[in-house]
Amino acid sequence: MKRTHHCNELRPAHIGQTVTLTGWVHSRRDLGGLIFLDVRDREGRTQTVFDPSDLPKDIFEKASTLRSESVVEVTGKVRQRPEGTNNSKIPTGEVEVMATTVEILNIAEPLPFQIDDPEVASKVNEEMRLKYRYLDLRRPEMARNLKLRSKVATATRVFLDEQGFLEVETPILFKSTPEGAREFLVPSRVHPGQFYALPQSPQQFKQILMVAGVERYFQLARCFRDEDQRADRQLEFTQVDLEMSFIEREDIYALIEGLLKRVWKTALNMDITTPFLRLSYFEALNRFGIDKPDMRFGIELVDLTEDFRASTFKVFSGAIANGGVVKAINAKGLAGATQGQIETMTEYAKSFGAKGLAFIKVESGEWKSPIVKFFSDAEKKALTEKLKIEEGDLILFAADQWLNACEILGKIRLYCADVLKAQGKLKIPANQFNFLWVIDFPLLSFDKEQNRWYSSHHPFTAPVAEDVPLLKTDPKKVRGQHYDIVVNGVELGGGSIRIHQPAVQETIFKDILQIPPDMVQARFGYMLEAFKYGAPPHGGIALGFDRLIATLCGTSSIRDVIAFPKTAKASDLMTESPAPVEAKQLRDLHIQLKVAPPKETPA
Ligand code: ASP
Repeated sequence: MKRTHHCNELRPAHIGQTVTLTGWVHSRRDLGGLIFLDVRDREGRTQTVFDPSDLPKDIFEKASTLRSESVVEVTGKVRQRPEGTNNSKIPTGEVEVMATTVEILNIAEPLPFQIDDPEVASKVNEEMRLKYRYLDLRRPEMARNLKLRSKVATATRVFLDEQGFLEVETPILFKSTPEGAREFLVPSRVHPGQFYALPQSPQQFKQILMVAGVERYFQLARCFRDEDQRADRQLEFTQVDLEMSFIEREDIYALIEGLLKRVWKTALNMDITTPFLRLSYFEALNRFGIDKPDMRFGIELVDLTEDFRASTFKVFSGAIANGGVVKAINAKGLAGATQGQIETMTEYAKSFGAKGLAFIKVESGEWKSPIVKFFSDAEKKALTEKLKIEEGDLILFAADQWLNACEILGKIRLYCADVLKAQGKLKIPANQFNFLWVIDFPLLSFDKEQNRWYSSHHPFTAPVAEDVPLLKTDPKKVRGQHYDIVVNGVELGGGSIRIHQPAVQETIFKDILQIPPDMVQARFGYMLEAFKYGAPPHGGIALGFDRLIATLCGTSSIRDVIAFPKTAKASDLMTESPAPVEAKQLRDLHIQLKVAPPKETPA
């Protein structure tokens, strides 16, 4: 059962050689008395030909019964394809193998869905693909994704090793520290009534590794978050997680720029330009309405607050009098937006608490809008100049508190770009990557419902040194030493310089985040203690590895780059997990179910 070549290897140079290929029957065509079997493996496919005039009857018959996806071993001689039958779409398309024997290693039953045609396969419903994931992963597009993922993982390890990083594994059975997302709990058999938690990230361990003198740590770390599955989230995902001692923010920027340069070269043979652009959190929101701006196109937010402060149009001047702002975007070429599209955008505005969405359509030399009649000539002039208004434009406004106004237009900006893309009016090359660092985040955000501050990144993030005195007097002004790396509107990762002084960390936990002292002790006591025995200044970052690979593969779904992902309903359709367990297992774990055991539970 030994092949001589893989299925993407044979070229005219091999003509005349006797070869053996192993793989799956990609397709079988019976043409003019001959049988053509395309044999496929991970690398590609090769055409083999069975000619009845050359072959013992039993071998020809074996070939003629073969169904798609059966596993075979074909031996034969490589020859030039006859004149006019080359297939320029595949690298082996100039040659074929004249079969002398075929071994059937495994017969495939009729398939639940067709996998040899990318057009057809891409339309198969995803639940089907996940149930039969082993078939789905055989598709060349999916095999390519897995291969690229593996290559990038290796390049990452090699790069970080060159930079002096040690790969250290941290525990999967951790302890509950419910600060961020909901955790998965694992009951302890040995300690009745006690639980481990699966780590949301190795954050605390990597900081402890710095106290342990490791200096440079990394890990392709599995992280677990029991969150309701929004569009493109997974319960478990992978991070390129790292931490370094004796560094400043600049060191992280340089390291990650170097890593991404290596990754883009390895995966796409592309040279990306560094250093990356940097934008403050304020500027990102103010100009793009989001903290992970897609900078491949403009449609920037324009501020009109001063122009409308004294306006007779009370919707605008009233919002300003309330401490708010007036902002607008110009979606060039979208004056023809349909009623439905305007409604969708209005719904976005309403989802942020706005009453409606003010807009102007510039059509046939006229400003079509119910609100224009309230504008003075000076206001119209300011709009025309600042928004560079021309025929065919669609102007959309937000009059609200600054953050809300930015976020409303940020969402609408992305929607407009999608519509313009679909109409062919906005063209973005597939290989364009606009990287940037978003920096100078506020350390804290305020939760109105709970009436308390929470950490914008996580509670271990250090404040900018000169802002520390403001912690007690004006917490919202304190900037964090936190950074996000963004590409094309996707947050690839984030991290921060950490607090390494136990007193500052305690202030953050107790005074700012208002975590009761006994809870601080129970959850983070060991960390505060560790910091008392020589903690070096340190910082780090984690990149979302699944999202990174999806970006490189040009797919919007991380499920396409994870071998065995879960569905939006948190199940694995192939293994049918989660599933009930036996009563004895529950007893051993000291667990009594409050819900009726699912029917399948064995007695
Ligand atoms: N642990 C953080 C996260 O998962 C990343 C970091 O701060 O290094 O977002």
